[in-house]
Amino acid sequence: SKNRETLKIVVVGHVDHGKSTVIGRLLYDTNSLPEGAIDRVKRISKEKGKPFEYAYLLDAFEEEQKQGITIDTTQLQFFTKRRDYVIIDAPGHKEFLKNMISGAASAEAALLVIDANEGIKEQSKRHGYILSLLGIQKVYVIVNKMDLIDYSEETYHAIKKEFNEFLNSLQVTPLDYIPISAFYGENIASYSAKMPWYHGKPILEAIDEIPKDKDISHKPLRLPIQDVYKFDNRRIIVGRIEAGTLKAGDEIHITPGNKTTRVKTIEAWVQKDQTDVVSAGQSVGITVEDEFFNKRGEIISHKDVIPVVSNRFRANVFWMGKNDLVTNKKYKIKLATAEVEAEIKSILKVIDASTLSGEEKALRVKINDVAEIIVETKESVAFDEFRNSKVTGRFVIVDGYDVAGGGIISKAEEAANLKS
Ligand code: GDP
Repeated sequence: SKNRETLKIVVVGHVDHGKSTVIGRLLYDTNSLPEGAIDRVKRISKEKGKPFEYAYLLDAFEEEQKQGITIDTTQLQFFTKRRDYVIIDAPGHKEFLKNMISGAASAEAALLVIDANEGIKEQSKRHGYILSLLGIQKVYVIVNKMDLIDYSEETYHAIKKEFNEFLNSLQVTPLDYIPISAFYGENIASYSAKMPWYHGKPILEAIDEIPKDKDISHKPLRLPIQDVYKFDNRRIIVGRIEAGTLKAGDEIHITPGNKTTRVKTIEAWVQKDQTDVVSAGQSVGITVEDEFFNKRGEIISHKDVIPVVSNRFRANVFWMGKNDLVTNKKYKIKLATAEVEAEIKSILKVIDASTLSGEEKALRVKINDVAEIIVETKESVAFDEFRNSKVTGRFVIVDGYDVAGGGIISKAEEAANLKS
């Protein structure tokens, strides 16, 4: 349905703590499953010689996908009275990191699942830490498998207390904790009679209360240039508006080229119509009054709030590479539409995300570590600090041909002398 609001949620947590089962339940309890899915799950369960598993619903989706039917396993949808939800499934830690950092799946809210029987694991904490770095503050902590501990209020409160201490040290206050059994559907769609001591809401009611992020159309304009095309005598600059709003006639500034001009026409790319106003989320082609050289990777903004231009910044990186991240090595950095050669100037700190303890002035960053680093790019680039602008404040690091890490810019640093 067209005018309904959509909220993107990511489900994270330690492996086997019940992410897939929670997702399966949410789809089932909101009647959001395609026809026949339950039958397929029954069949898969039988084939595997196991009892009915909600988690296999996701396998059933995958099977559909293989048959060429149109469901994307990484973008499952369900619907409540209030709005539509897109669930970003994070099957493994690496996929989770990749999706989250590249922004491929920019979630507004998160469900962090903890197994009540196993308790808090390293990965539960790592995921909490990563959510906090990514600025995802709307988090429900889901204490799952309550059936395995006889719905014990005491154990639930002990987990809540321990995890809250950890989150508070990150300055994160979760929206709430919800004790559930995904397997038996307790506290998913309706209040559980098994946990009368719980006075919060079941998941489906709780998530309907998550406020949407503020509309980024009101933020300063950021239009990273994807390409410049020539049609007849016109040069059309193409890109996606990541924040803000652009009108024909607006005075714009282009960084790092440092040029100012005015917008002559705007062609909304998808509708193929001319239009006067475009805002965040739209892909557009524009023509400008003064035709000077501009290229992919530059950022168009209004004159009053331009991005930072520098070749140095401080960042928090998540490293997933097989080879350690080191100084004095050439990497490629992709930041919005820019691609630029870069080096790590120093590794200020390597942080163990599960204990939050750190090693200062490290020599290398190993796989799965988080680190604070100084990046120096070969040429100046336009960017923002992440807290000001998400899309232009994050980057991925390419090592050879692999996306080996991702980071968010915590602080712009003064430009170092550029090597020529
Ligand atoms: P994931 O790796 O986090 O996606 O975990 P899954 O959803 O695949 O669940 C792992 C196992 O835990 C499966 O065998 C589930 O049936 C089981 N499980 C999940 N939720 C519950 C629950 O609420 N109670 C019980 N008893 N088992 C559960």
